[in-house]
Amino acid sequence: MKIGTPKETAHGENRVAMTPDSAKMLQKLGHECLIEAGAGEKAGFLDDAYREAGVTVVDGAAALFEQSDIIAMVRPPSEEEIGRLDKSKTLISHFYPGSNEELMKLAASKGATVIAMDMIPRISRAQKMDALSSMANIAGYRAVIEAGNNFGRFFTGQVTAAGKVPPAKVLVVGAGVAGLAAIGTSTSLGAITFAFDVRPEVAEQVESMGAEFVYLDFDEEQEDGSESGGYAKPSSPEFREAQLAKFRELAPDIDIVITTALIPNREAPELWTEDMVKAMKPGSVIVDLAAERGGNCKMTVKDERVVTDNGVVIIGYTDFPSRMATQASTLYATNIRHLMTDLTPEKDGAVNHDMEDDVIRGATIAHDGEVTFPPPKPKTQ
Ligand code: NAD
Repeated sequence: MKIGTPKETAHGENRVAMTPDSAKMLQKLGHECLIEAGAGEKAGFLDDAYREAGVTVVDGAAALFEQSDIIAMVRPPSEEEIGRLDKSKTLISHFYPGSNEELMKLAASKGATVIAMDMIPRISRAQKMDALSSMANIAGYRAVIEAGNNFGRFFTGQVTAAGKVPPAKVLVVGAGVAGLAAIGTSTSLGAITFAFDVRPEVAEQVESMGAEFVYLDFDEEQEDGSESGGYAKPSSPEFREAQLAKFRELAPDIDIVITTALIPNREAPELWTEDMVKAMKPGSVIVDLAAERGGNCKMTVKDERVVTDNGVVIIGYTDFPSRMATQASTLYATNIRHLMTDLTPEKDGAVNHDMEDDVIRGATIAHDGEVTFPPPKPKTQ
């Protein structure tokens, strides 16, 4: 099959879905690779590097779509891009089908097959293709770097000839993929790092990374906020109150807060309230990774950096992976390459789109002229 990657058209998007290295691996599966001229430039991959990797560089998106059987992209397609699909073509990209129903119907009406990278089930076997996790890992790392860039002090404590510097205190709220990456980055920079999650089973992981898990003063045994698949369920009102009380107690002493708390298919829970922001010291920083879904802090403005009246910086950027486009493209292109490995079992360039396979079925949202979203629950873990 011919696998082609166009230049991303979404404003400010720097990533690319194919790298010279991923293209070499795709060719080993028997596929031919094409790339639109300049598609990798913002991620640091120049056309010549693709040519050296055996990729055909094509001028313009229209020709790229025309010549490709499988189109691999990062962002959800535009209407114009869907207009270039037909029943002989497969599109692989993020799609967020729950929020892009009309686009999904349009793709199905064209007869195209669509695989949504954000719908890859979070089961062990699919980890190598889990683009949400590979991008969340980058977001967690970058959140700490961004916080450091806006914070006027060191992370690590120092004793210098010019005086003693106290270490920064960082609180990470939500210890999923992004949260754990933030914890690892924060501790490696030498900050005293605290973390909280409603799922008590992550306490051990948090502590093994050198951070301190924040336990609540809660009468009963700590409520287990775990749902299946490593996700959380909504907290009881009593538990939430205990959580907010603990955060209120911590707020005056914490320099940097990174919030990542999320429950699938819901607005982000409000966990860092206005009075907590007001209680923080001037120069403190909040990075709200949940900004896309309303924010864990209601003072967050999506895609903006705001400074509050009491001098707290709140960052609501939603494009952290794109701000690290080389790394993000490398990991995303590898996720796609692994997906293609599963789709090409004989390594002969022939695709077997097996709708009996939980992972392929879970991520396929349009096939044979039909919308195939939402998928049935996966059988395996
Ligand atoms: P995840 O599901 O792995 O982690 C979310 C964590 O939040 C889970 O551990 C969950 O138990 C915890 N949580 C849920 N409710 C909580 C509560 N009330 N209190 C404390 N913890 C709670 O998700 P992820 O992949 O790590 O993504 C985290 C967030 O980062 C998401 O909102 C995602 O959209 C966002 N993200 C942002 C960017 C960006 O550029 N800003 C990029 C990628 C991901």
